Amino acid sequence: MLRPDILRKNSIFPIKIPTPFAVGDVFSYLIKDEKNVLVDTGQYTDEAFDCVSSHLNKQGLSIEDIDEIWLTHGHPDHYGQAARLADRAGATVFGHPLERSNFGGNDDAELFEAFFQKHSIPEDHIQNMVDQLDWLQQFQLAIEPEWIQDGELLNSGDLSFEVVHTPGHAPGHVSYISDSGVIFGGDLLLGHISTNALINFDAETDQRNRSLLQYRESLKWIREQGGLVLPGHGEIIEQAASVVDHHLGEHQKRYQKIKQLLRKKPMTLLDLSYHIFANAIKKGALFLVLSEVLGYLDWGIGEGVIEVNESKMEYRATK
Ligand SMILES: [Zn+2]
Ligand SMILES: [Zn+2]
Repeated sequence: MLRPDILRKNSIFPIKIPTPFAVGDVFSYLIKDEKNVLVDTGQYTDEAFDCVSSHLNKQGLSIEDIDEIWLTHGHPDHYGQAARLADRAGATVFGHPLERSNFGGNDDAELFEAFFQKHSIPEDHIQNMVDQLDWLQQFQLAIEPEWIQDGELLNSGDLSFEVVHTPGHAPGHVSYISDSGVIFGGDLLLGHISTNALINFDAETDQRNRSLLQYRESLKWIREQGGLVLPGHGEIIEQAASVVDHHLGEHQKRYQKIKQLLRKKPMTLLDLSYHIFANAIKKGALFLVLSEVLGYLDWGIGEGVIEVNESKMEYRATK
């Protein structure tokens, strides 16, 4: 069985970076091989820059020695300072093209606003969510990476990693898996918290992705690998299957609960969200809540057990 000491043998070093976000620290990983590769970078702050720099120094390296940066997805804690590091080092940055709008600094604002209005989310709530998005801007520098596709191989020298498209949390989220089963999992699987399948849009069609369903497929993929997951947050995961089973089980429970509620009476996305997560909404997590609830509605519609009345945007259970 793979153990964490494989990291040292293979010269993979975690770099723990403090963030200003609720999620806490984010992990970047240094692969020290023929090339020096960083997997994810931390957000765009001087603190994060100094943190990466001092970790590299401990390995006898400096920012200038970074050859490549492999990004899992375009959230600020994962890619925010990629452009700054790459610029300093002359490094090549890789990422997935369906992450284009995130790497471009969240240029989907209009799609989000149209979506919220269609669902009759009150203006003050919309404004809060727009403000939150604006606040994030200071922690990321837009970048256009070299595009990588599912199934492509990237190597650092001795080590070779396959790019696997694992959408859900973000539309162009990728994981990198070595032939020995070491997986850089980004935000696909975290041990200590359930990660969210966020509302997002396809970069090519502007259609909203059914992100929870995509996310569940990605979770099933990582479950089958039986590898060692190096996540973007929290401890290294040796037993991915049991963590995945826990998350899939929680999804099932909430899905059942939502169907039950909708059997009693039709509800809008916002009604349902308040019914289940009123406290989280009070704490300012409306966007996460809407994302989550919408995921179950997509699921029910896909299974033909939930219907939507398009004129009122009310959902009801048919079975
Ligand atoms: Zn993320
Ligand atoms: Zn993250």
